[in-house]
Formats: sequence, C-alpha cells, structure tokens
Amino acid sequence: MRKNLVIAIDGPSGAGKSTLGRMLARALNLLYLDTGSMYRAVALAVQESSISASDDLGVASLAERVAIDLVGDPDSLHVMLEGRDVTDQLRSDEVTHLSSLVSSIPAVRRAMVARQRELGKRGAVLNGRDIGTVVFPDADVKFFLTAVPQARAERRYHEDRAQDPDANFEETFADMIARDDRDSSRADSPLAVAADAIVVDSTGLTIAEVFQKMMAAISPETANE
Ligand code: C5P
Repeated sequence: MRKNLVIAIDGPSGAGKSTLGRMLARALNLLYLDTGSMYRAVALAVQESSISASDDLGVASLAERVAIDLVGDPDSLHVMLEGRDVTDQLRSDEVTHLSSLVSSIPAVRRAMVARQRELGKRGAVLNGRDIGTVVFPDADVKFFLTAVPQARAERRYHEDRAQDPDANFEETFADMIARDDRDSSRADSPLAVAADAIVVDSTGLTIAEVFQKMMAAISPETANE
C-alpha cells in the first residue's frame, strides 16, 4: 500500500466517523487524526483560562500557541494539552458546546488546519467537517459519512449515557442539531459535501457493513501504488 495515502472522513456528528476512522486507520496501518478532538482541546484550554469564548482574538491567540498532541494508536488515542493527558475531559457538555463555538473563529481554524496538514501529510485517516473541502482537498479518497438525525442522536445518547446515567435523549438531540446547524452555516469552512466525496449513509447499516463499503472504495487506490 502507498504509505502517504490520505483518507478524509467528513460528516455531521454521530454518523460514526470516529469508529470507522479508527477501523480504517488500523486496517491500512495509517495514522489516525481525530480533528474534532483538537478543537475540543482548544475549547478546554479556553475553559481553563480567563479568556472569554466571545473574545475571538484572545481565543485565536491561545489556539496558536497552545501545545496539542495526539498520541497512541488509533484504538487508544490520547489527547495531550501542554503535555497533560486531557482525553477524559474532552467529552463534557461544556467542552462539546464550547468546541462548536471556538471552531467558528477563522483564526482558530487556520491554526488547526496548519497543524493537521503537517501531521497528516505523510499519510493518515483524518476525520472532521472540512477535511475533504479545506484541509486536504487533494485527499486520495474522500468520504462524507452521514445518517438520519434520529440514528445519529441515538448513537450520541448511548455514548453520553455511558458517562452520565442522567443523560437525556431530547437534550442530546437538540444539542446535536444546534451544533450541526452551526457547523453547516458558519462562513469559514462550513460542513459541506466535497464534489468528489463518496457519500455513505450509515442509517440501518451495521458498522461492519459500513466498513466494508468504505474499504471497497479505497481498494482501487491502494492497488495504485
Ligand atoms: O467531531 P467532534 O464532535 O469531536 O468535533 C467537535 C466540534 O469541533 C464540532 O462540533 C465542530 O464544530 C468542530 N469541528 C470542526 N471542524 C473539524 C472537526 C470538528 O469545526 N474538522
């Protein structure tokens, strides 16, 4: 297989991007980059600082200087913020909400995109919202992974429940729709289907079935050494 293969997986939240991204990276022996966790790390850094989330300049300057590292293999990816393992703090409601706000600031996106290009250029599976449109417009294979909102919210709800037994489905659903709307309507790098993306709707499919579909789309690329 070509070593520098770049595979982009974009789509709304809860579509299965992380699970499938990890599986593909493992199967193809590529680096796995969960770009959402980078925006989440910026959000946590903002939360822990005295900077207000509405202070675009302050948030951008923090995003430019803060050290964010993704370490470990695809199955146990750890996110380091200034050398500290913050993986377990990135899924809270506050960080999730804040990540959606900070990611709409253009200078924050510029800082993250530059890092993502540097990290992914030797080959990677990257998941996010703008990978195939902005970060790697020349990616070898681009997927847009989606599912109907009910199915996506159910997935998110099961994840939330594992951490918080009081999680509420209606709240998860409403928050997910609000985040997706923000991602799709922001001026800079909105969530969009790249012209050459392969759209995969995971509604009603098992993970194994989606994986097979994606691998089948990648095989011609991997054969083209
Ligand atoms: O994918 P995840 O839900 O972890 O991403 C957290 C937030 O980061 C998203 O709600 C989205 O607003 C933002 N994001 C983004 N561009 C990416 C990845 C994530 O704007 N490439």
